[in-house]
Amino acid sequence: MVFAPAPPDPALPPVRINLFSDTQTRPTAAMREAMARAPVGDEQLGDDPTVNALCERMARLLGNEAAMFLPTGTMCNQIAILTHCRPGDEVLTHEDAHVINSEGGGAAALAGVTLTGLRGARGQFDAETLRAAIRPRRRYAPDQTLLIVEQTANHGGGAVWPLAALDAVAETAGAHGLATHMDGARLLNATVAAGIAPDRMARAMDSVWLDFTKGLGAPLGAVLCGSAPFIDAAWRWKQRIGGAMRQAGMCAAACLHALDHHVERLAEDHANARHLAAGLAAIEGFRVQIPETNLVFVEPGGSLPTADTIASRLRQRGILVSVFGNRLRFCTHLDVDRAAVDEALDAVRRDVSAA
Ligand SMILES: *Cc1c(COP(=O)(O)O)cnc(C)c1O
Repeated sequence: MVFAPAPPDPALPPVRINLFSDTQTRPTAAMREAMARAPVGDEQLGDDPTVNALCERMARLLGNEAAMFLPTGTMCNQIAILTHCRPGDEVLTHEDAHVINSEGGGAAALAGVTLTGLRGARGQFDAETLRAAIRPRRRYAPDQTLLIVEQTANHGGGAVWPLAALDAVAETAGAHGLATHMDGARLLNATVAAGIAPDRMARAMDSVWLDFTKGLGAPLGAVLCGSAPFIDAAWRWKQRIGGAMRQAGMCAAACLHALDHHVERLAEDHANARHLAAGLAAIEGFRVQIPETNLVFVEPGGSLPTADTIASRLRQRGILVSVFGNRLRFCTHLDVDRAAVDEALDAVRRDVSAA
């Protein structure tokens, strides 16, 4: 049987400090009020005013002609691949990319493409690595038609692609006829951390999207942006796979509220992550990847308990973290303040020294 998430174990205490993921935020009272007040229409007829306002704002923010509202980031990636590629094509991305590892094989099942993973530290690769993976077009080789980059790189530790590196890989892709797509699930974490405007960060990309459930506090929603012809073609796939909605303005209102109130504060999450990383690094045996944004990966070495053991001890104290192999991942977000981070640090110190 494949792993399926289980309901919470009633024997465990309730989760008080949730560092599992920035997807675990609950909509604030103000966000819920904005949702309740939102004017709505029929989204798939194009007459939901709140969805239209969100799409116009997102297209402007990311420097594109057009935008489309979707329920999830996964659907943004899948629709982008379906729109850019044809069955049999090959897509190049990083070997740790979400689209390779965490979307249930959707790119193969839905679009019929193969995904090739490139290597590189922190979820990134350079233009030389990309160039080496590009083959001359031949009748017997798959057509390589799309490059996908993740900003920030999730399994790369929330690492931020430097602008020059992004521009360089996009230029190489373009020179060989590949389209470019940015998985911007946490794009605003990158722009806030780097102090670079979102439209500049996404300029070299043919399509880009942003997730409103990753640290921005919305209950659902992601927006895919691109040229007007791209979004026009993408709408066909949205309709086909059941992503066209009705009074979606209630959810778009949460996203607009997030843009107004939850973007600049991402800097606080980054500061909390740095604080947490410094505290963890002081524990002997922990290898900590210095965070650039809101994800802190740490590997217990030496005589320390395994990541699984530490995570289950923390869970007994009502502190939830995630585990990737033998790495723990702590994710800071708007429902975790500095006091909670300090309490989690204290708990880790006690849990690693317990027998
Ligand atoms: C979460 C995530 C996705 C998928 O977004 P969902 O809204 O969960 O479908 C895609 N890419 C990256 C890098 C992510 O972190």
